[in-house]
Amino acid sequence: MRVTVDMTVCESHGQCVFAAPDVFAFDDEDHLVYETAPPAALAGDVRTGALMCPARAVTITEERA
Ligand code: SF4
Repeated sequence: MRVTVDMTVCESHGQCVFAAPDVFAFDDEDHLVYETAPPAALAGDVRTGALMCPARAVTITEERA
């Protein structure tokens, strides 16, 4: 799984951080930071975060094993 966030539309709502705190976080200046290649065990959380994002800023790309 690859994760991309379109920072031009992200409004720092934080729903992704709430859903997948091991993947998404805010830095000291409240900018979103995230793992681009999270482990498979976190895939469900990442999908939930993407669905919850009100700005639809999170894109998930599945990779072939
Ligand atoms: S939920 Fe969406 S808008 Fe909010 S911080 Fe995450 S990516 Fe950005």
